[in-house]
Amino acid sequence: MVLPKYTLIIPIYDEEETIAALYGRVSALMDRLDAPSELILVNDGSRDRSLQLIRELHDRDPRVCYLSLARNFGHQIAVTAGLNYVRGRVIVILDADLQDPPELIPAMLEKWRQGYQVVYAQRTQRRKEGWFKRLTAFVFYRLLKQLADVDIPTDTGDFCLMDRQVVDLLNAMPERNRYIRGLRSWVGFSQTAIQFERDPRIAGDVKYTFHKSLGLAINGLVSFSKVPLRISTYVGLFAALVAIVMMLLTFYWRIAYPASPLTGLTIIVVAIFFLGAVQLLSIGILGEYIGRIYEEVKNRPLYTLSEVAGFEQQKFSVPQ
Ligand code: UDP
Ligand code: MG
Repeated sequence: MVLPKYTLIIPIYDEEETIAALYGRVSALMDRLDAPSELILVNDGSRDRSLQLIRELHDRDPRVCYLSLARNFGHQIAVTAGLNYVRGRVIVILDADLQDPPELIPAMLEKWRQGYQVVYAQRTQRRKEGWFKRLTAFVFYRLLKQLADVDIPTDTGDFCLMDRQVVDLLNAMPERNRYIRGLRSWVGFSQTAIQFERDPRIAGDVKYTFHKSLGLAINGLVSFSKVPLRISTYVGLFAALVAIVMMLLTFYWRIAYPASPLTGLTIIVVAIFFLGAVQLLSIGILGEYIGRIYEEVKNRPLYTLSEVAGFEQQKFSVPQ
């Protein structure tokens, strides 16, 4: 068997409704490529018939390989698992719901041939995604761009093409918190964008619940920025300033109006709540960072696999 030149990675979580259409469009694209390709489907602990459908595809088409994670580890880890098993020289990551059109891949490959090692797809429009998702995504990507230590381009998801050189570097990174679009920017190399309009999901429900999206957002911010820690310092300084001003005012009142007793129950209650909020917030922010240190120190594997198929001639690079 010749090793494939192109590797496509698709994470699958409860996608029984999209798999057939997905395979149709992706395999049509693979047929048109100029060299052999492989499709790595990563089953992220689906609870529906996804794994069964993936197995059938693998039996039918030898280009389809799959990994099955032993439970739901989340999108970023599923993609990471796929990256650990790539054999191609060029790697493309896309979503299962066809929101990332496979038809864009030839244009991405063209950029790769021009010498770019990373070609990420940038969304110009998100048709038919709710206003809440669009608004929060808009704010988040801009906030991240402002705060992050590396330049993470706005409105880009995980849909991208990467050269094997970059993927090898990503695979060598030991960190547990995988915010792939951040790590991808962090490695450097020549990167370029390709614009596209994000289509609506073809079938099924969004698998990124609000909770998961919020988790991803916090992860992105905390993994790539220390600004939140600094914010609590600034808020602390501000609270100290307010306290000093209040002390001086009290002092002044005591001297200027010795007759009037100072009563300020409201002010005291407000101050207690304000300081309490500042302290809890700061502890929370600290906790986010400490929790991450804890995760890293435990040094558990990133994921566990229950099934692997289609990589017969593969060096099994099991993650640390
Ligand atoms: N996904 C996953 N594990 C999860 C959640 C999502 O592998 O825990 C996959 C899902 O099957 C899809 C991709 O991640 O291929 C993106 O999910 P979705 O379309 O629901 O989210 P969106 O990015 O459109 O908000
Ligand atoms: Mg989607």
